[in-house]
Amino acid sequence: MSSIQVNLETIAALIRDAEAKAGRKEGSVTLLAVSKFHPRESVLDAIAAGQMSFGENRVQEAFEKFSGMTALHPHVALHIIGTLQRNKAAKAVSVASCIESIDRLEILSELEKQCAKINKLMKIFFEYHTGEATKSGFKTYDELCKAVQFCADGNAPHLVPSGFMTMAPFTDDEKKVRASFIMLRETAQKLRAQFPSLPLSELSMGMSGDYRIAIEEGSTQVRIGTAIFGARA
Ligand SMILES: *Cc1c(COP(=O)(O)O)cnc(C)c1O
Repeated sequence: MSSIQVNLETIAALIRDAEAKAGRKEGSVTLLAVSKFHPRESVLDAIAAGQMSFGENRVQEAFEKFSGMTALHPHVALHIIGTLQRNKAAKAVSVASCIESIDRLEILSELEKQCAKINKLMKIFFEYHTGEATKSGFKTYDELCKAVQFCADGNAPHLVPSGFMTMAPFTDDEKKVRASFIMLRETAQKLRAQFPSLPLSELSMGMSGDYRIAIEEGSTQVRIGTAIFGARA
């Protein structure tokens, strides 16, 4: 086995362990393998070990690495997790099956337009800014709520609002990290109650350094790069 495959096994076991310790059902947390800055060979190595979901920050890099991938591996899913520029929406839509970094209203109409063109359904997560050290995501509840409302009103029939994403602040202060995850969970609960017609069941939170805390606080998907693929150059 390659080191990537060993790491994947280790992480899978640690996730199962964290689920059990948090009193969560086994298998309630899925793993998104974040392959940014790592080559296509590393992705293929992970696929050979059974990993099917991948995350990339930059559309151009994702496109170069993943275009044509589903022809070879039909079950591979690519999630875009970095800020999406309007002029990259078409490319993102062509290669991804989920955009986790919805951070403003205007990107929704552009994504809808591009998805409609190729008649593709796209999962989306709303990214919420929950920690002082990170910059991305909707900054206020009001803006976030307006974006969810936009979808609930039927303005984006090709977009499937599937949940929420956040990045905790980069700090050793566990309290701050936990507070960030709690904030996302509580915000999601509020919005699910307000928009019962939308799926919104996913909570994408937790990275290599903080996924145990995220799982304790209700994460349904952790996004892990370094602990699988090693340090980024
Ligand atoms: C890079 C990145 C990750 C993975 O971070 P690691 O610390 O390497 O596990 C997760 N989420 C987002 C949004 C990222 O940009």
